[in-house]
Amino acid sequence: MPVKPLRVLSFIPPMTQLNTPYPSTAYLTGFLRSRGVDAVQEDLALALVLRLFCSDGLKAIREQIDGDPKTQSTRNVNFFVSNYERYTATIDRTIAFLQGRDSTLAHRICGRQFLPEGSRFETLDVYVDDDGGDPLAWAFGGLGMHDRAKHFATLYLSDIADVLRDAVDSRFEFVRYAESLAQSQPTFDPLVEALAAPMTLVDRTLRELTLKAVNRHSPDIVLVTVPFAGTVYAAFRIAQAVKALHPAIITVLGGGFVNTELRELTEPRVFDYFDYVTLDAGERPLLALLEHLRGERSQSGLVRTFTCIDGSTCLAEACAGIPALPARRDRGTVKYIDCAEPDVPFAEVGTPTWDGLPLGSYLSLLDMLNPMHRMWSDGRWNKLTVAHGCYWKKCSFCDVTLDYISRYDAVAATTLVDRIETIVAETGQTGFHFVDEAAPPKGLKALAEELLKRRVEVSWWGNIRFEKSFTPELCQQLADSGCIAISGGLEVASDRLLELMKKGVSVAQVAQVTRAFSDAGVLVHAYLMYGFPTQTVQDTVDALEYVRQLFEAGCIQSGFFHRFTCTVHSPVGRNPEEYGVTLIPLPPISFAKNDIGFVDPTGVDHESLGVALNKALYNFMHGIGLDADVRSWFTGKVPRTTVPRNDIARALTLNASNASRRR
Ligand code: SF4
Repeated sequence: MPVKPLRVLSFIPPMTQLNTPYPSTAYLTGFLRSRGVDAVQEDLALALVLRLFCSDGLKAIREQIDGDPKTQSTRNVNFFVSNYERYTATIDRTIAFLQGRDSTLAHRICGRQFLPEGSRFETLDVYVDDDGGDPLAWAFGGLGMHDRAKHFATLYLSDIADVLRDAVDSRFEFVRYAESLAQSQPTFDPLVEALAAPMTLVDRTLRELTLKAVNRHSPDIVLVTVPFAGTVYAAFRIAQAVKALHPAIITVLGGGFVNTELRELTEPRVFDYFDYVTLDAGERPLLALLEHLRGERSQSGLVRTFTCIDGSTCLAEACAGIPALPARRDRGTVKYIDCAEPDVPFAEVGTPTWDGLPLGSYLSLLDMLNPMHRMWSDGRWNKLTVAHGCYWKKCSFCDVTLDYISRYDAVAATTLVDRIETIVAETGQTGFHFVDEAAPPKGLKALAEELLKRRVEVSWWGNIRFEKSFTPELCQQLADSGCIAISGGLEVASDRLLELMKKGVSVAQVAQVTRAFSDAGVLVHAYLMYGFPTQTVQDTVDALEYVRQLFEAGCIQSGFFHRFTCTVHSPVGRNPEEYGVTLIPLPPISFAKNDIGFVDPTGVDHESLGVALNKALYNFMHGIGLDADVRSWFTGKVPRTTVPRNDIARALTLNASNASRRR
């Protein structure tokens, strides 16, 4: 009997970004097609938002508010109800504007009479200047009408998202959905309870969209990739909908959240929803699974795959048309199977494809006015990686023990540019976001040479380590090849802590590299950290002084401070004693495990210092307060900085004179 070809449908679950598809399904679909597998994809995050944020969606929200006496009567809800007609009259046009289909609407939006303005618009009051001038002139200038309208339209959608959260589903947010149910949750109980609860309007809409997609594609296998915790609840709702109506469809869970948090999975109830859970790069586990489901490989030949064994069924038989046995839903035992077959080399993973995704329907949002943040939320970028993993893989706060960091696998620049050309031909768009954790300087140099040689005109941006191989010449070459922005970790700007972190850079080096990029016209964003083990108040004040000087010297234009979190996969989590901290024991784990608390004997109140750091950074990005003593940003008493006031300028001058001597 001929073997039935298997059709694979990959889902992006809500919520992920809305300006461009999350790349996981594009990678997998491209790879599977390159191996002759019938593969299709759907973005349910975008579909859900488009279904809720339209006139019919608003009508459904209104009906929910009117029909449920328990609906909270919050300020957002009251404003929505009293301006309901205006919302329904403007929503479809505003979505079309954000999709780039109705650009002249910018004039009406900027007039500030078109859109109803709820509480999110109060943030604009922050920018009102005393002399009655244009409050957003600093961000958009006199001519930036389109961007200004995008920002207003984004605030308007955020107001509606707040109404959804207050009146329909308290877990709804634009970029995440029910995140706390999954993130570092030792047991599956909170998710199970939420999945057994009556469906909200959001759940019902997601269910309907899921089933429509399944009917459209008739898959044998449904893959759901969960990049982070804010997509996990929706992924289980998707699988629940599929299994309820199509029990014979095989459901598979994978993605970044699984790779970091579910490595010690022992919870059998997960397998009421998913038949298989795969770890790390999906290509090899999926090939093995497909062979198994086609009856060409035994179960013991699976690769990095969890399944639930109860001895009562064979899922390959289920896929071939024999219904899955209800007995399988009896609690079995979770088994991790890995026949240790090598991964598919990065050179052989094929070219991602966006085929099947509605590329014209993504929303260019402009929520934060920071120039780098807008690149994450605005514009449709083709996402690609220069290499798999990180070539450095040493930083002590990073998941260096996991495959997505530790397995470095580069590809020839010719292959990369072939992929770029194929993607441009498919999507018609020339913007690329290289989503590497840290793109290798050698690889970027070769890529730039190849792009320039073939005269391929693209714009690109990505994440790097600010290491000294990025010379001014290389930065200029990268800019010439289309590089428009670069981000990298400065972390805590302190040579002592950078060494403890094994970051392999010094503050002076970061200054020189970032300045070289800035001089080449490339926007530079720095990831900044606070609360690293042994970090004192003095370290924090000194780090802020360095950041101030980096802005003042034109080295960086954008930054973001995040609080250090310890993960069980990082060197700090593995060897806490080397970093002077003690871990707080975790409870027994059957589900997710990632973040772990620790006690730092320095006892610094990083929470309150973090408020000051973020306030200072926000102002620095707008060129404000660069000449003030950094102590002025802190509310409590902090020591004077020990960093000389011109330290960065001196490092830059020294670098420039060394360079001219070399010439
Ligand atoms: S933090 Fe960045 S540079 Fe450091 S090991 Fe991780 S990915 Fe590599």
